[in-house]
Amino acid sequence: MKIILLGPPGAGKGTQAVNLAQKLKLAHISTGDLLRQNVSGGTDLGKQAKSYMEKGALVPDDLVTQMLQRRIQAQDVKKGFILDGYPRNIAQAKALDAMLKQENAAIDFAVYLEASEPVIIQRLTGRLVCKNCGANFHRKNMPPRVEMMCDKCGGTLYQRTDDNEATIKTRLEVYRKEVSALLQYYEAKRQLHRLNADEDADAVLNEIIRLAAKA
Ligand code: ADP
Ligand code: ZN
Repeated sequence: MKIILLGPPGAGKGTQAVNLAQKLKLAHISTGDLLRQNVSGGTDLGKQAKSYMEKGALVPDDLVTQMLQRRIQAQDVKKGFILDGYPRNIAQAKALDAMLKQENAAIDFAVYLEASEPVIIQRLTGRLVCKNCGANFHRKNMPPRVEMMCDKCGGTLYQRTDDNEATIKTRLEVYRKEVSALLQYYEAKRQLHRLNADEDADAVLNEIIRLAAKA
């Protein structure tokens, strides 16, 4: 099973992806997490990506696509994946289809998580992320049981440097510029499901599990 999660920053792609991967026993691939690992590890890719990420701009397609291509070949991805943060534009959508086609594979469906702007800002400015497993928490909506500690793995939580209002605005602009073309792309292939992501995380999760069972 191969599922893509689309939607604005703050729609809950990360939260859903972690939970879905666990329930459906699929690999969770987050291009944002992979890039942040490269930045903190000081790799060549990380050095090239860092300034784009700090501004809230997209990292150039060829860099991200190469990174994803490598990740997709790993053993744990053979059973399928939940892809979170990719594709961000049509060029990436086509690159993904081409990559999968090489292995005679294709995505099963894409989920579009729709969220309103006030909800997005509230979620992102209060978001806490686990350094170790990438699980998302929220200072108010989803506080961890122990302060700044991950419920799932005990890792330390931190606030992402790009989760400030100025950078969030840029990320939303970048997102809006590309999203309608992406939605049309998957709609034309009859692979798109739209969900209201203002609802609570469990309701959204159950909807996606229902879609996966039918796919
Ligand atoms: P969000 O979607 O909440 O902004 P992500 O963790 O998905 O957060 O991405 C953080 C940053 O990483 C983006 O602002 C962008 O700079 C970069 N990035 C992640 N995925 C991609 C991608 N597919 N293409 C280009 N840049 C990406
Ligand atoms: Zn964790």
